[in-house]
Amino acid sequence: MTDAQTSIDSQATAASSDPAIRDAIARRRTFAIISHPDAGKTTLTERILRAGGAIQLAGNVRAKGERRRTRSDWMGIERDRGISVVTSVMTFEYGGCVFNLLDTPGHEDFSEDTYRTLTAVDSAVMVIDAAKGIEDRTRKLFEICRMRDIPIVTFINKMDREAQDPFALLDEISSSLALDTTPATWPIGRAATFAGTYDLRKKIVRPAGLNLEQSDARMVQLGEDLELVEAALPEFDKESFDAGHLTPVFFGSAMKEIGVTDLLDALVEFGPPPRDQATETRVVRADEPEMTALVFKIQANMDPNHRDRIAFARICSGRLSRGMRLHHTRTGKNFALHTPQFFFARDRQLAEEAFAGDVVGIPNHGTLRIGDTLTENEALRFTGVPHFAPEILRRVRLDDAMKAKKLRQALTELAEEGVVQLFRPMDGAQPIVGVVGTLQLDVLQARLKGEYGVSIGFDSTPFSLARWITGDRAKLEIFAEMNRSSLAEDLDGDPVYLASSNFMMRRTEEMNPDLKFHDIKQIG
Ligand code: GDP
Repeated sequence: MTDAQTSIDSQATAASSDPAIRDAIARRRTFAIISHPDAGKTTLTERILRAGGAIQLAGNVRAKGERRRTRSDWMGIERDRGISVVTSVMTFEYGGCVFNLLDTPGHEDFSEDTYRTLTAVDSAVMVIDAAKGIEDRTRKLFEICRMRDIPIVTFINKMDREAQDPFALLDEISSSLALDTTPATWPIGRAATFAGTYDLRKKIVRPAGLNLEQSDARMVQLGEDLELVEAALPEFDKESFDAGHLTPVFFGSAMKEIGVTDLLDALVEFGPPPRDQATETRVVRADEPEMTALVFKIQANMDPNHRDRIAFARICSGRLSRGMRLHHTRTGKNFALHTPQFFFARDRQLAEEAFAGDVVGIPNHGTLRIGDTLTENEALRFTGVPHFAPEILRRVRLDDAMKAKKLRQALTELAEEGVVQLFRPMDGAQPIVGVVGTLQLDVLQARLKGEYGVSIGFDSTPFSLARWITGDRAKLEIFAEMNRSSLAEDLDGDPVYLASSNFMMRRTEEMNPDLKFHDIKQIG
């Protein structure tokens, strides 16, 4: 820990003296599921919601029914490609805890959105297909969790089918992710004979009704396996788990509903409650009495009839209550919070109160942006919500020149929402949009047409890289003068250098040693 960090910590405010706040926070579990497509995230989500008593809504997670079809046009893309573009929040109670499950977009192209969602969770459940082991996307998402030391619980799914050997799976996780593993449960039977799990800590068999003769082949194998497990594998270490170094591993079948409550029980028992969060000036403890919140996602036009704009904010400390006055650090303005909303899958209701770990939607007309901090009074700024340098840059081509003004407004709104990044060239040329994956371009095109009535196409640009520039002001100005045709401003007016190739980028860096070129911009 650095000196600066120590002094930041020592300024931390005392814990709330209100036991209701402390109790509410201790019972919050806010998590996301990370996995490779097809590993079973949707099925597991449904089963988890069902276990949490939200049966009537469980089907909605996957629902491609009428209700969703009436939502805005761009949902069409989501439907056609069978992916989930919207990050929604699912709240349910289980085992005395209030769970907030933040759904992450399933497609690789939305990594930036996914990243931001992962800044709003306290733990992640990593779902692995028992036959396939660690796959690409799992690895990428895991790396994001590791950057923030998010504790990971592993669920090895599809044990009811031909699977790799459990020891081999544990080995693969440890070696390929450099993550310590400890089995929390052990499978009883394999593939077609998979019948339940054995809880290694509580030393009980689940489901409770599972009654196998000692002579049953599955019990014989379990006995043999357990000898090896106890001799060879480390025990659960809470500290190591909290630090993100060790993952407890659960075996199960989401489809057959085996192992799902093992997982939830574990989250109740040792899943981390809301974590403390760093700001530019100090660390905010989750149990501080004052309410603080971080906007990690903006969603516009969720309901096309209302053209509304919802900022999703994670409460980081204290208690939020409807009607309270909030301080918006970026603008320095205060506003009354009249209609905070809870989202349940795709339904919403007014939020009367909420606590650290909860996510509320705040309707607004563009005042709130990704990375914004909301407080009761103090001018805090949470850190850690990033923009990534886009990998694809395209110039927007407008089909109907009469709609230039409308396009400008629409692009700004959609960029504020994080659909694309927007760069305005200093030489006055047409705006350039930047995306991490091409699917974002399709979404942009469809939403401009569906929500704003503007048709566009894309032209290529000479650029393939964008880097945020920082450094001495005078030097920056000279650089800007010399490189006008390669310079743009982002949505916040920050300077961005556009390069045609890696080679050009390196040369520019070498020629300007006083300036720094960044591929990640921290916002907030
Ligand atoms: P996602 O893409 O990760 O959301 O995966 P889904 O939940 O949609 O599951 C992908 C496929 O695997 C579907 O056909 C599921 O029915 C199937 N599946 C999910 N969980 C299990 C499981 O535990 N066992 C078996 N046999 N199939 C499963």
